[in-house]
Amino acid sequence: MKRKRLLILIITMVASSIVCLSIAADYKYVGSAKSNKYHYPNCEWAAKINPDNLVTFKSAKEALDAGYVPCKVCRPPTRD
Ligand SMILES: [Zn+2]
Repeated sequence: MKRKRLLILIITMVASSIVCLSIAADYKYVGSAKSNKYHYPNCEWAAKINPDNLVTFKSAKEALDAGYVPCKVCRPPTRD
């Protein structure tokens, strides 16, 4: 039983790191559909965004144009 659990854990870790890598290449900033703040992806607040509400931006301009404002914690730039 323990072996099976460990295997599942390893598979989960590998799968999530693959997801992380592919996401990292796609965008520079993230936001939530439920708020108007945009963040660096490594911001502690970005980590709290529900994946269902995750919005991504390729540039600060894209975020600003969508009506988002920079997070006061991670302070992403307003210009690229
Ligand atoms: Zn932030």
